[in-house]
This record gives sequence, C-alpha cells and structure tokens, in this order.
Amino acid sequence: MKKGISASKGYAIGNVFMKKESKVSVEKRYIEDIQEEEKRFQGALDLSKKQLQKIKRKSEKEIGKDKAEVFESHIMLLDDEEFAGAVKVKIKTEHINAEAALHDVVDSYVKIFDNMEDEYMRERGADVKDVGNRVLSNLTGQGSFLSEIEDDRVVIVAHDLTPSDTAQLDKNKVAAFVTDIGGRTSHSAIMARTLEIPAVVGTNDITESVKDGDFIIVDGIEGIVIINPDESTIKQYENKIKKYNEEMEKLKELINIETITKSGKKVEIFANIGKPQDVEQVLKNGAQGIGLFRTEFLYMDREDMPGEEEQFQAYRHVVEKMGEKPVVIRTLDIGGDKKLSYLPLPEEMNPFLGYRAIRLCLDRDDIFKPQLRAMLRASVFGNLKIMFPMISSVEEFLQAKKVLKQCMNELEKEGKKFNRNLETGIMVEIPAAALEAEELARHVDFFSIGTNDLIQYTLAADRMNEKVSYLYNPMHPAILKLIKKTIDAAHKNGKLCAMCGEMAGDENSIPILVEYGLDEFSMSASSILKAKQIIMEK
Ligand code: PEP
Ligand code: MG
Repeated sequence: MKKGISASKGYAIGNVFMKKESKVSVEKRYIEDIQEEEKRFQGALDLSKKQLQKIKRKSEKEIGKDKAEVFESHIMLLDDEEFAGAVKVKIKTEHINAEAALHDVVDSYVKIFDNMEDEYMRERGADVKDVGNRVLSNLTGQGSFLSEIEDDRVVIVAHDLTPSDTAQLDKNKVAAFVTDIGGRTSHSAIMARTLEIPAVVGTNDITESVKDGDFIIVDGIEGIVIINPDESTIKQYENKIKKYNEEMEKLKELINIETITKSGKKVEIFANIGKPQDVEQVLKNGAQGIGLFRTEFLYMDREDMPGEEEQFQAYRHVVEKMGEKPVVIRTLDIGGDKKLSYLPLPEEMNPFLGYRAIRLCLDRDDIFKPQLRAMLRASVFGNLKIMFPMISSVEEFLQAKKVLKQCMNELEKEGKKFNRNLETGIMVEIPAAALEAEELARHVDFFSIGTNDLIQYTLAADRMNEKVSYLYNPMHPAILKLIKKTIDAAHKNGKLCAMCGEMAGDENSIPILVEYGLDEFSMSASSILKAKQIIMEK
C-alpha cells in the first residue's frame, strides 16, 4: 500500500499504464549511425517548418501581415543552411545526437546575439532560442503518451502529469491516475476533480513500486493506492464503491434545491471550469453560475495561440449555455505550473512568483487584447463578467481596466457590439491584495478569493510540493484572518465576495466560510452537491 494525497475523490480498480517520461534531454550521446541521426534532425526541421507555416497563416488572418512577419523569420532560420548545416556538421564530425548538436549551435548563436549593442539584434537571439526549442521538442516527440493507451479504463501512473496532460484525459479510457509528486491544489489535481477522475498525488515513489499491467486499487478518498490486492481487499473495495455510488445518487436529490443555511441565509454555489465542454457537468450538478473559467486551458495542447475569433466562439458557447446565470471569465493565467509550448518563457527560480498571469498580459498587448476583445464581444450573449488574476495593487487593476477600455473603444469604432457595463473583478490571491482589500473594494465590482495561491504565498508553502503539504493548511489562523478581512471589505463597500480556490469546496472549511458571510462558493462541479449538503446543515 502507498500513501499519498487525495487529489480527486472516488475509487478505481484497474491495470497500470505507466507514463513514459519524454524528457527534453540534451544529454550528449555517442551516435553510431550518423545518417539516421541526420534524417531524424531533418524530420524535426520539416515538422517545425510545417507548424510555423500554419501559425503564420493563422496570425496573418488574426493579427495582421506585419506582426506575422516574425514567423517568416523563424521559417527562414529553419531553411538557413548555415544554421541547419552547422548542426549537421556537428552530428557528423563529433558523432553526437541531434539534440546535443542543436543545443550547442543554438547556444553559440544566442551568445553572439546577446553581445550585440543593438537591441533589435539582441532580440534575434530570443528568436533563435524559440526556434531551437520547437525543433528540440519535435525531436523528442513530447506529449504523445496518451495516444498509446489502448486498453480501456487504465490507471495512469506517472512521476507527474502536466495540467495539459490532465486536461486531455479521456474518462472512458482512464479510470484514475497516481503520481509521485504534486499537491492537492496543483492544476493537475484541479483538472482531475473537474473531470471527475479519481486521483492520488504525492506518493513519492509510485513509479518505482509498480510496472505496466500491475493491478491496483486507487482510493481517492483516503489518498491511498493498493498494489496487486488480494481477493478480500478487492471485495472490500467493491463494497466501498457500491456505497459511494449510492451516496452520490442520494446527493442528486439536492440538484434543484436552493442552498439556504439553517439560519436562513441564501448562499450561491457556482462551478469552476477549464474548457467550454465542462459546462455540461456544471448544469448537471445544478450550479447557479460559473465562478471561474480558467481560460488558459483553451491555450493548451496546441501549436499556436487561439485567436480572437476562436476565443469569442468558446466564450459565447459558455455564456449562451448558462443563459441568465453569471459566467466569470478569468483572463489568461499562464506561468507557474501552466506552460505553453509555443510561448517559451525564460526559466525562473520561482515560477509562481514570476512572470505570470496579469504581469505577463500587461506586458503583452498582443496576447491580452485579443482575449479581452473576445470576451467583450461574447458579453452580449449572456451574463459575462471579467476577472483579472494575480492583482497585487489598485494600480495594476486600473492598468488592466485601461487596456479593457482601449479594447472597448476599438470595438466601438469597428461597429462591433459588446456590453459596456459588464462587471469587472479581481482574484484576491496575493496576501497584499487581501491586506489592501478595503482600498481595492472601492474600485472593483467583485472579489473572488483564490485560496490556492493565497495559502501558498501566505504560508510560504509551495502548492505543488508534497514535502511541504503538511504546512499547506486552509484553516491556519493567518489564512482565516485574510479571508475575513477580504469578505468584510467587500461587504463594507457593497460588493460581492466569492471564493474560487479549492477551499470553497473543502468540506472542513465550508462551515467557517458560511459563518464569515461568503456570498458565493465556486468549486469543481464534482464537489457541488456535497458542499450544498454541508451548507444546508449549517
Ligand atoms: C487560486 O489561486 O485559488 C485560483 C483559483 O487560481 P489557480 O488555481 O488557477 O491559480
Ligand atoms: Mg491562482
């Protein structure tokens, strides 16, 4: 038996499917068959070129010919005999693998550019790096392990799953997953709850304890895994599964009932989603709205940015499906544990404290504006609200609003419709924002407390790191104080205070949040009915 952290509830019994790690290895290896290695390199170059041509065509349509020019320069680099030739020469003369040869050539190019006086030329170094990364990931064939699953209902065992791996899991094929590392509020865990796939994370060494085809039980409630169980344990779990399913069936009676506490306070229960198709689960569980649409999942598992039109269709689909019910769409929160293969960002010592979310968006109009325009255009089809993540000061919120205003003016000039009065709010997930809640409450229309980040920043306990998960405590007095302060500040200014961090669906935390007067609880659709039951008993 292995003990880990319960990341997504439910039970599963099935055969192990090991995720083969496709590390981007730039380790130097001696290569015997040079011709084969050159062929492999050429294949990765050709694939990269095809991808870039596609991105270029799309960008020309969406951001204009001149801005798409950058991709032409990337394609030219792939065609440049000096660049590709240098890699091939290295493979040939040094008998080394393509990854290592490419790495060395990119490195020498970047060094030359980095030392140039001219800023424009220095930026070309970043282009070379970008193209190099693309070829490198094509050489290593990243992200293909899911397509290798042939049997039905396997249990994936992996060192770690990226959020984008998890978002792609097919419930018909994957019964559960178990990982060595990760915490309850990592985005893989959050996605597992959204998809209702049982998961245990942070087991330390599950990948060393099982092999492909082993039979295992995943207990997502206790956070344990039982490897090759005996007959009586299997029987015991079959009974548990039966009971669990009965309990789930019983909870369904609550779907259409209003959530009112024993003391008569009405509480709203909303859902968090990552993809437009998650709306089905939201409606099935009777949520009264969407309190957090994590739009970054629209940007994952693809080769290029989703353009304005594509995003508009996605947001429109969600708001239309939800009818009158509010839909809070959060602007791109990339960075931390959420990465985009086509948007290489510099390696950071502390990614959760780095260049992410609103910081990146305020720096990159080319990314921020198409998203805001798409949201604005979708706002006429339902009750859409915009939320900015990682706000740390009033100034940052006002800056974001300024860009939003520019988008409104542009759309107006173009004769495109949008709701000028749509509400805008912020995530309160940085301790500074909670401490400044009084000031912020005067400017925003609503708050939504993001406890996943708020807890990690306040307690200095990485949400991804199972080694410090014992410190990651939602009920720590410091966390409770910040939450209370935020709710009080919102109410004092006549504003609504929601919570969309995982704490909102945490059975132990719900009673105190009700007591503090939290207006809206937003959580994974799978947690809604249990939360409702607890709130109604309070
Ligand atoms: C949070 O930080 O609580 C939150 C809801 O945002 P995310 O989990 O996407 O960082
Ligand atoms: Mg967050």
